[in-house]
Amino acid sequence: MKDDFDFDALYEKIRAGRVEREDAICLAHNPFYLFCIADELRKEKNGDVVTYVVNRNINFTNICVGACKFCAFRDEKERGYVLGMDAILSKVEEAVNTEATEICIQGGLHPDLVVDDYCEIIEVIKSHFDVHIHAYSPMEICHIAKNSGLNEAEVLKELKNAGLDSMPGTAAEILDDSIREIICPEKLKTEKWVEVIKTAHRLGIPSTATILYGHIESLEDRIDHILKILAIQRETGGFTEFVPLKFMQKNNELGRMVKRPLSFLEDAIVHALARVILHPYCTNLQVSWVKLGVSDAQKMLYFGVNDMGGTLMEENISRLSGSPAGEYMSPEDFERVIKDAGRTPKRRDTLYELL
Ligand code: SF4
Repeated sequence: MKDDFDFDALYEKIRAGRVEREDAICLAHNPFYLFCIADELRKEKNGDVVTYVVNRNINFTNICVGACKFCAFRDEKERGYVLGMDAILSKVEEAVNTEATEICIQGGLHPDLVVDDYCEIIEVIKSHFDVHIHAYSPMEICHIAKNSGLNEAEVLKELKNAGLDSMPGTAAEILDDSIREIICPEKLKTEKWVEVIKTAHRLGIPSTATILYGHIESLEDRIDHILKILAIQRETGGFTEFVPLKFMQKNNELGRMVKRPLSFLEDAIVHALARVILHPYCTNLQVSWVKLGVSDAQKMLYFGVNDMGGTLMEENISRLSGSPAGEYMSPEDFERVIKDAGRTPKRRDTLYELL
């Protein structure tokens, strides 16, 4: 750090939402300062409250025409599965019986499904249960559009009319085409991801925002990605939260290209950077207990995090890539883990209303 470094001036700049790329790089190399600022900002915006949501994940198909090199989930049409409506409804019923308020639906890119199939899933669930439907990533939106002969805005409108409440901001990975070309060459490009997300926000469909970190990208790539999320958020205000997702190395091609998993310190830096860069535009920072394991996820509460995500009930995608956590974390576990960290647990809905 330079001798003339002015910590107070930088802190005020960050509090005013004017952080620049060079500031973020400087802080990443001086984690003591970074962590202090991230924790202060978290305290200022969220106090001691740490939230979680009771939800269920449903991966309705693993059949996928994609070829992401970090994926251990996809399968060919001959071997894969597609859940029927009865199976989906019984999973939703199970979730609602455990007080779930959100159903998260994502799947592989099935070659034969069109927009009516995706709408039907939402409509049938909504006709039986009063739950928030959080479904279909920007990649799925592009795939549905292609299969249905529509554009993405038309697909989003149909899904919204069917009852779609919000979207997962997955498939973002790293928003840099030179990296996407290596890790997910067939996935939508950066510009398209941004376009689909902005269109959704404009249509009144909020989304989460994510980053897939810890593979071939550099620290600067992570910072640039978060700055791109910031630019969208300043324009639309449609992100409910930011979720760093650590790359899981097992059972996938990209894992064999990566020399070592990131250290705890590097995980903490990613989370703290997100808090600092996105302040005050996106003030919910979620840790993924599935990716980091419950113990490290709990420790992230000291590095800017104010949300521990959802109960999930059924987590297939990370589990198959070697995630250290289980498939379900009960509300009682969330309450205990958050209290043990000295914070106040609160249950929330998908849009961060406290319940
Ligand atoms: S990450 Fe999703 S889109 Fe990519 S191959 Fe796996 S299931 Fe398909």
